[in-house]
Formats: sequence, structure tokens, C-alpha cells
Amino acid sequence: MNFLRELWEAVIYFLFPPRCPNCREIVDERYQLCPTCEKKILHLDIYDRPPEPLNKVLRVTKYRGGSQKLLHKLKFDNNLGVVPALKKILDDVSNREEILKLLGDVDFAVPVPLHQERLNERGFNQTEKIFEEFLAKKNLQLKNLLMRTQATPKLFNLGKTEREKILSGVFAAAEKINLNGKKILIVDDIFTTGTTCKECAKVLKALGAEKIFVLAFSSDFGENFSDKKN
Ligand SMILES: [Zn+2]
Repeated sequence: MNFLRELWEAVIYFLFPPRCPNCREIVDERYQLCPTCEKKILHLDIYDRPPEPLNKVLRVTKYRGGSQKLLHKLKFDNNLGVVPALKKILDDVSNREEILKLLGDVDFAVPVPLHQERLNERGFNQTEKIFEEFLAKKNLQLKNLLMRTQATPKLFNLGKTEREKILSGVFAAAEKINLNGKKILIVDDIFTTGTTCKECAKVLKALGAEKIFVLAFSSDFGENFSDKKN
């Protein structure tokens, strides 16, 4: 039986070889980006002056092309098959100076939370799936200190003002905890206007946190912020 299964898999592989989600080039594994596309979407970039009360935002990829396709598969199709490709991208930048400096400055990480209903529906928090292994390798704990008190509509096609209205007061502390003097890294899958991270940061600050940094897997900075440094 094993032989038959292997034969069948070989036939499938031959007929439908795995292709880069961005350019359809044949690659070794499903959902893997080809080296050219990987290089293209990798775009480690820093905002030194993000909206208050955030202290610094670092993004790893540009939110377009291959990165956008992979994240949509994860978020909207609940497809965990793309996770290894996302982890590979983080691995590629894990020893870059900007990353080492950012991670060296923080005490632990907090993921942007999903509302319980969304979590039940999806079965996982995509941000945790993307970052958990990467952070563990860096000896940083991922703590679920925040919760979403209301289910909110999907935000991806809403503007900044609408997002601010919807997200105001939506996050709360999941437990009573004193964060005095702590430097916290919020991890997020897609950073667009920054409203979500700002709202999360307000809660952490109210608990005493000293500084709040953000590591976003993907962002289209620059199109949303006029005070971008570079
Ligand atoms: Zn490609």
C-alpha cells in the first residue's frame, strides 16, 4: 500500500508540481515562494516615529504580491499549509541587525488577539502561528495578555477614521497584571493604519508598560503614514 501511495503522490507531484504563489514558478514545496519573489517581498523596514503610543514599528515584508496571497490563504481560507513558507521568511531575517536590536530591547511579546468567536471559527490565531516558533527560538515568550471584548467586522477595506471608531475600546487586559517598566513587543500579521496596534498599546500602557514596539509580518507603510522616516 505504501508503494501505491508513494506512486500516487509522485503522479500528483508530476501533474501538479508545487508553484510559487506569486509568479507560478515551480518550487520544491507547496506554498513556498521562489527565491526571486522571496527577495522581492522581503522588505525589512522601520518606523521610528509611529503614531502614539507606539515607540517603533518594524515590518518584515511588503503587504503585496506573494506575502499578501500567503496571508490571505492563512486568514480567509484557514490554510495552515502556508505557515512553513511564512516561517521561512522570518528565518531569513532572524539575524538581521534591526531584528536583533528590536528583540534585544523587549521583555516579551504579545499577539494582537482575536475575538473568541473569530478564534472558534478559524481555530487558531494566525499571528501566533506565524510568530510562535520564531519568538521561541529567540527566547521570547508570547503572552496572551490582551482580549477583544467585541467582535468587529473585517477591517481590510475600511479607512483610518472608520477603523478608529470601530476599534476604540475594543481591547482589554485578559488578566490583572502589573507591567511597570516593561518593554513589550506587539506582534501582528498585517499592519496597515496602525489603529489595531495603537489600541492594544493603550491597554498595555494603562497596565504600566514603559515602551511598546511592534513587529509586523507585513505592512504597506508609507501609503498610510506621511511621517515615514525613509
Ligand atoms: Zn515567484
